[in-house]
Amino acid sequence: MNLEIVVPCHNEEKNIKKFFIEINYVLRDKIDFNIIFVNDGSTDNTLDEIKKLDNVRYISFSRNFGKEAAIFAGLKHTKADYVILMDCDFQDPPSLIPEMIDYIDDYDIVATRRVSRIGEPKIRSFFARNFYKVMNRLTNIELVDGARDFRLMKRIVVDAVLDINENNRFSKGIFQWIGFNTKWIEYENIKRSEGETSWSFWRLFAYSIEGIVSFTVAPLYLSTVIGIIFSIISFIFILFVVVRTLLFGDPVSGWPSTMSVILFIGGIQLFSIGILGQYVGKTYVETKNRPKYIIKEDNFD
Ligand code: UDP
Ligand code: MG
Repeated sequence: MNLEIVVPCHNEEKNIKKFFIEINYVLRDKIDFNIIFVNDGSTDNTLDEIKKLDNVRYISFSRNFGKEAAIFAGLKHTKADYVILMDCDFQDPPSLIPEMIDYIDDYDIVATRRVSRIGEPKIRSFFARNFYKVMNRLTNIELVDGARDFRLMKRIVVDAVLDINENNRFSKGIFQWIGFNTKWIEYENIKRSEGETSWSFWRLFAYSIEGIVSFTVAPLYLSTVIGIIFSIISFIFILFVVVRTLLFGDPVSGWPSTMSVILFIGGIQLFSIGILGQYVGKTYVETKNRPKYIIKEDNFD
């Protein structure tokens, strides 16, 4: 069995060496493996730390392109029959790898999921949980709560992921969308070993919108449905106003109610245009078809 381990890194200088030692320890005399580090525009010494290691491959981007781009670049550079994708901050425990390898004969993917979110801000867990609910309702893919990107894949799976060539990449969705049979291994959440998370609340929020927009057009129907409902309501209201005026005359009043209705409808219109804008914007970005990342240096021949 030959194995490649793809590791996206953004400002992980303190974790690189520890990670390398740990992986070598866990996999010693078990299996042939190679690590591919993807340095995603780190502003610290991550790249130097990587270069100090023996026998590792690396790709270094010209700037920070985001974890999705790093995953894509890393996978694209793999050749082995088996590929593991994992973070190097020890939140994806290297100690799980032997167990994952044990299962891979019977499955196409061995993936991991956190069964707890201990150590994570409450508000973040709350939004995450609800995001999964919304996503599973709106789309025809079934996202698994707590699923990590940490997974072992057979070549055929990696190729399927790479075949999805879109720029707006939402890996959690892509991994589900491609299918194949998956073995889930569960573990408790672990706090990151060194450094800070690169995902602020707003970055995660934007990422979740990305997820919804890339996997369903359901929000577009929302404007249509709201539009129909309001057309019916206003038709009934017009009838009511006409009849009332004919029967009782037209005492001029009702400025507050008029204003409320105008503002309310205006709000809904802006909301709908916003949803539409999300899709038009994503389409615009896709049609430009820019590269997902730019490599400044690597040690592949
Ligand atoms: N990462 C990356 N590019 C980015 C942000 C993060 O390659 O722009 C990497 C990071 O080095 C780590 C993994 O993606 O290996 C997950 O990021 P992080 O640990 O900050 O997120 P969290 O685990 O808190 O969700
Ligand atoms: Mg992490």
